[in-house]
Formats: sequence, structure tokens, C-alpha cells
Amino acid sequence: MFPLVLVALVVVAMALTAPERGATLTEYAAAWRHFAPWEMTVTNTGLANEPTAAAAARIDYGVQAVLDPLRDAIGVPVMTSSVYRSPAVNDSVGGHSDSEHINGNAADILAAGYSPSSLANAVMHHVGAKVGKVITYDDKGHVHVSWAASGPPERLHATAPGADGKRIYHRIQ
Ligand SMILES: [Zn+2]
Repeated sequence: MFPLVLVALVVVAMALTAPERGATLTEYAAAWRHFAPWEMTVTNTGLANEPTAAAAARIDYGVQAVLDPLRDAIGVPVMTSSVYRSPAVNDSVGGHSDSEHINGNAADILAAGYSPSSLANAVMHHVGAKVGKVITYDDKGHVHVSWAASGPPERLHATAPGADGKRIYHRIQ
């Protein structure tokens, strides 16, 4: 009896002290089916763009909950134009200072044969329960998908920037 209890305690202690599954994108990516770590940090700014451990964990969640299942569902490659953005990269591309990309909670995606609006519909249909915002940008040809969900997903359309450089976001039912 006593040794069994001891074994059980040791097992519980090991489980409680086990390190988390990974900390870098490369470690997390062992569990990803359709994406590589570099696709999560791609940037044309030339700036360093290494995610924090917290952002890497959020990116891992996004790949496993949203991007991999979406790719499986639509059957064509899903390309990322921007996922993680360091604060400097985000500034450089004119992102909002509170952009979900900084925390690893969003991806801008494209898929062969899909317009932004048809891809957004596919996101809502296949992984809608896991997403926060789904925003179509026709001028950029991509869809912004976030996975910091705090309620039902929001589907929005962004106009091209106006003369003042600002976009208008329309809610789509
Ligand atoms: Zn975005």
C-alpha cells in the first residue's frame, strides 16, 4: 500500500514539475502539420522579429486551433503574410499599437483560389468557434484572423485607407 501511494505521489510531482511542451516556435512546430516556424515570423521590414515565449505559445495555439484545421478543411495551402510582429516591426508596418499580432494572437492569411471574402467565409464556417476577429482587406488581398476570442467571432470588412490614411471597419452579419 505505502509504496503504491509513494509511486502515485512521485508521478503527480513529476507531472506538476514537467516543463511546458516548448518555448520556441521550432519546438512547438513539431506538432504542426502544415506550417513552418519561419511562416510565423515572416516580415519584409528587415527587422529582427523573434517572438517572446508568451507570444510563441499563443502562435502555437493559433496554428493548432485555427490554421492547421483551416488548411485541412479547405484543402489548399494557406499562406501567411504576417503573423507575429515585434513592436518595432508593428510600428514599421503602421500596425495599431495594440495589434493582436504583437501578442501572437493573429495571422494575415491568403489561400489559392480564395478571395478575401470567400476565405473569411471559410474561416467562419470551419473554425469560427476558435476565432475572435475575421477582417477582410480587399486592397491587401488578405484576411486578418485573430484567436483571442472573448465571445462570438466578429466579421468585419476594412475599406482601403482614405485620404487621411485611416480605414473604416464595417461589421458584416
Ligand atoms: Zn492582421
